Amino acid sequence: MKTMHVSIVTPNGPVLEMDATMLSTKAISGELGILPGHISMVAPLDITNVRVKQNENVVKVAVSGGLLEVRPDSITILAQAAEHADKIDLERAMKAKERAEKRLSEKGDAIDVHRAEIALRKAINRINTINM
Ligand code: ATP
Repeated sequence: MKTMHVSIVTPNGPVLEMDATMLSTKAISGELGILPGHISMVAPLDITNVRVKQNENVVKVAVSGGLLEVRPDSITILAQAAEHADKIDLERAMKAKERAEKRLSEKGDAIDVHRAEIALRKAINRINTINM
């Protein structure tokens, strides 16, 4: 079966390097499913997860947005933060979710709503990535 090389890279270093038969994720423009041989393209990613399939084996990674670069034989994702599903600290994500929800419920000028919404989406994405 044809494969492509997948790399997920963050400022802290590489999070994933593997050969894959399919990658699915969510770009800002919508869901993407990419097979080897795909035309080259670049797409900004949502706060979402990436499912990387190698035959029947699926690896799940939470990404906090980033840039997806597709070439026919490789995919590179550059993300500010990314975690393997089995490396996600559920308690930390639950606390981050509660913190963000509390901030959003406190109405006042001192609250940066956009920042709290992003923190909430990142925490929910990490929790969903563990549970999917
Ligand atoms: P927190 O509020 O818990 O620090 P955050 O969303 O602000 O979360 P980030 O700034 O996105 O955290 O990430 C900082 C670093 O911590 C990154 O290396 C990221 O991979 C890691 N990280 C954040 N949350 C978790 C988690 N729940 N489990 C494992 N690693 C995490």
